[in-house]
Amino acid sequence: MSHQDLQTARLSNGKDIKVHTHLFINNEFVPGHGPLIETINPVNEQVICSVHSADESDVNAAVKAANDCFKNEWRKIAPAERGRLMNKLADLMQRDIDELATLDALDNGKAFTIARDVDVTDSIGCFRYFAGWADKIHGKTIDTTFDKLCYTRHEPLGVVGAVIPWNYPLMMAAWKFAPALAAGNCVVMKTSEVTPLSLYKFAALCKEAGFPAGTVNVITGYGHTTGNYLSNHPGVSKMAFTGSTVTGRKVMEASSKSNLKKLQLELGGKSAQIVCADADLESAAVWAAGGIFNNHGQSCNAGSRILVHESVHDKFVQLFVKEAENIKLGDPFDVETFQGPQISKGQFEKILSYIELGKKEGAKVAYGGKRWGTTGYYIEPTVFINCNNNMRVMREEIFGPVVAIGTFKTIEEAIDIANDSDYGLAGGVYTSNIDTAIKVTNEVKTGTMWVNCFDVFDQSTPFGGYKQSGFGKELGKYALQEYTQVKVVKILRSKL
Ligand code: NAD
Repeated sequence: MSHQDLQTARLSNGKDIKVHTHLFINNEFVPGHGPLIETINPVNEQVICSVHSADESDVNAAVKAANDCFKNEWRKIAPAERGRLMNKLADLMQRDIDELATLDALDNGKAFTIARDVDVTDSIGCFRYFAGWADKIHGKTIDTTFDKLCYTRHEPLGVVGAVIPWNYPLMMAAWKFAPALAAGNCVVMKTSEVTPLSLYKFAALCKEAGFPAGTVNVITGYGHTTGNYLSNHPGVSKMAFTGSTVTGRKVMEASSKSNLKKLQLELGGKSAQIVCADADLESAAVWAAGGIFNNHGQSCNAGSRILVHESVHDKFVQLFVKEAENIKLGDPFDVETFQGPQISKGQFEKILSYIELGKKEGAKVAYGGKRWGTTGYYIEPTVFINCNNNMRVMREEIFGPVVAIGTFKTIEEAIDIANDSDYGLAGGVYTSNIDTAIKVTNEVKTGTMWVNCFDVFDQSTPFGGYKQSGFGKELGKYALQEYTQVKVVKILRSKL
């Protein structure tokens, strides 16, 4: 039987939705030549649908479409027109916000209301923010000698290849598409094979908005095949990657083989939240709980280690456990739900094995610690106390609703523990003393530090890691540097 592009998928609330299942290349949904991949509903462990994946010939076709478009159309379009198209796309995303959020809730298991109010809303904001930049990307004139005119041009790179994870399927894509397009690049993006659905709807909206064929191409497939072909492709000028540190190394290696690509890596983390003795403990407990339990703990910046001053440990843990108790787990389409299932069976089993490991290592479960319910990949919010930085649950990225809490005596000790990590993505400090806040934010080696809050994002503020959390910045004006290259022009004036 032939495999149709548009299929009907059943939601866990019994409603149906139409989904695209073919690759989006050159403004058309086309069959792929790789194996069919089943996408699973993590709520009930049932197959949602199967999607086509891209083999090497499909990757070649997508990269060619993007290069042809860059050369013949997109490069010639006025910057203001790029901005107009991006704003039009944002309008269409706003019009179809419920459908986009439904697809992310279906495919990923996150709560529909959070998908709508956080993921899709942020993605729309991201397109509007970078649309504003499209006609404001300028070089400079530089005075050198009197007989020369010297200036710089900030030029697009050409074709950007992007590979993204499953935890924020639409938003991780928006963070790359928006600055890349604003700066004048064409894009070939590989979705996670686990969550392809919302990006195909997004691709259809790009066509409706009027982007020239080949500007935006969306493919899916396994990492070691499709992702590797894209990373190694000589027609790609830059790879923008978000995912684990292990995979980031592979993308880095592949990106240097056929050509020397510009590279941006947004990788894993084990971010520390430091709770000082002078903190507003009630507020700290609320922010710290959000810092780990938002998105079911599946955030790269998750504050999965909490270091509490020993004098306030018991009080803080009591308040923090109360926050964990109040988390409502359930079906993503129930409006009360805050926490849905983990993404997949593999992740579910990995997280449960980390919980067992934590117990063996001597950590004490203060809350949670097991599966929730009997169907779907749900795990209780889990709070470990009595943790120290030698334990694997304190050092390794679990990527689930599991937090490890330890204590410190002096602020210097807290900073040392926070820095005793291969990662350096984010961190937080809760204190009422501005000097302590400045000391900690200056001395902890991470790309983002929050004070008396956590997990707060804005399109205008950059985000990216230190150390093995990667390099390069997403969002904000800084992101434009990642998608442009600087040319210097020197003109000898013949007649003075
Ligand atoms: P992953 O590294 O397993 O996969 C990410 C993507 O890479 C997927 O699309 C996958 O198909 C692809 N891939 C796998 N092997 C590849 C290869 N050899 N070549 C090219 N592509 C390949 O990560 P995941 O499980 O999807 O996501 C979770 C990870 O992502 C966590 O480590 C998390 O911290 C990280 N993450 C980081 C950020 C950030 O901004 N720093 C944001 C979100 C997620």
